[in-house]
Amino acid sequence: MPDSANGSTLPIMVGAVVYVRVSTKEQTENLSLPTQLRACEEYCRRQGYEVLERFHEEGESAKTTDRSQLQNLLTYCRLNKGRVHFVVVFNLTRFARDKYDHFALRSHLQSLGISLRSATEPIDDTSTGKLMEGVLAAFAQFDNDVRSDRTRAGMKAALELGRWVFLAPIGYLNAPRSMGRSLMHDTERGPLVRRAFEDYATGRYTKEQLLKRARTWGLTNRRGKLLTSQAIGVLLRNQLYAGIVDVPEYGVRGKRGDFEPLISDELFYRVQAILSGRVPSTAPRQRAHPDFPLRGFVRCESCGRGLTGSWSKGRSEYYAYYHCRPGCRAVNVSKAMLEGLFADELALLQPTPGYMRLLKESVLRIWKTRKAAVREEIESAERAAKAIQQKLDRLDEAFLFERSIDIETYDRHAEKLREELTLARIDRHSGQLDELDVEGIVAFAERVLPRAADLWVQASLEQRQRFQLLFFPGGIAFDGKGFVGTRVTAQAFSYLREIQTGNERVVDQTGIEPVTS
Ligand SMILES: [Zn+2]
Repeated sequence: MPDSANGSTLPIMVGAVVYVRVSTKEQTENLSLPTQLRACEEYCRRQGYEVLERFHEEGESAKTTDRSQLQNLLTYCRLNKGRVHFVVVFNLTRFARDKYDHFALRSHLQSLGISLRSATEPIDDTSTGKLMEGVLAAFAQFDNDVRSDRTRAGMKAALELGRWVFLAPIGYLNAPRSMGRSLMHDTERGPLVRRAFEDYATGRYTKEQLLKRARTWGLTNRRGKLLTSQAIGVLLRNQLYAGIVDVPEYGVRGKRGDFEPLISDELFYRVQAILSGRVPSTAPRQRAHPDFPLRGFVRCESCGRGLTGSWSKGRSEYYAYYHCRPGCRAVNVSKAMLEGLFADELALLQPTPGYMRLLKESVLRIWKTRKAAVREEIESAERAAKAIQQKLDRLDEAFLFERSIDIETYDRHAEKLREELTLARIDRHSGQLDELDVEGIVAFAERVLPRAADLWVQASLEQRQRFQLLFFPGGIAFDGKGFVGTRVTAQAFSYLREIQTGNERVVDQTGIEPVTS
């Protein structure tokens, strides 16, 4: 950490470098270099990282062997060890070609005290986090994780639908299943809770005064005890009374509940304004955590920019909608409508049994042809790795036994050699990865594709965003009424096209047939 000239300590600055890569094909789509760079910089800004350097790779394909920028990045990280804390990438698929690259690079960076961060994907321990770490190869794993995660995922899915799955707060009762809603009003305490909100909203009572009043009405908690001062504070801040399901621990924010709210939005926000010491007449806040998975991902067909999402206030409710940016009025569509259309779009991706068989066959055939070709690459990479390892050994010898170099020289050379070794090992493993990818592609097509729409609808905001990118890596355009020129661009298929070399023919995209009813 640098000290300023006058000797006072500067706030701790966390340094980050940004690495983006783009193929020529993507230049024309919305994953262009500036888009990726902007996303990474925005991420850094949100996280409070200082961007020290930017590296961008422009290659024909993700399989490119040109790693000059990656090399530069690693060198920069080594020379600036201690200053760089994070390497921020747009997404992991673009950073590393595959699982092995990813882990090799990550552990190399770790040895320099650097963590890898993705601007578009949280890298965490959930089943989704694992999915993104393994990218293509982990599709099968994802499926397993989702299964074992079912209880929690089930609760989360229910919450996403506005179903309250926990114990009802004072004023509500958990409704019997047959009612079709999760909560109902407690005829005894419900009106008292509403009255507490109404009284406090007048601005004439302090919390303590309100508590006294509530006690005289006989407002008690579930066990029949009088409310405490803390309890009344919690009660007044509980969005559930306005019918909003908000459970951050489950990643569920600002969902409209499936039950009748006890109080109106206006009343709730007026109370919040008073609680936070703002003027009571302050306009209701925008919903704190809007949930717009398609924001930025769906482009306006008319002007080409990504749609954004907003809440707008109707007579008694807030309405969520997607719209284009200022200056363009081509798109203005309700959230439910656009997301429904998108789920329909995903539901069209139904692989036929014939397609699955052909897919499997061709993937295996291509893989076998390729395997022979990469064997040689592997061998030469192995030789390179071996040579570097020998140099490292000699360096150790020089330092430990002959004492012919000092520790600084040793560190400098050793780190550089380890970096070369990492790169060589990545090359060494690149040939083996196709095997993993074959399984990944087949598992992907078999398991995920047939229920893509369901999965998307039930997923959390972050999961949805990652999911939709897998199917439509270049985003999707909307003309105000429907999606335009939707093509099947699932990773599995673009991957197949990518490894198709000349004489090999790959299953045609028409193997996927729209479901017609
Ligand atoms: Zn537009």
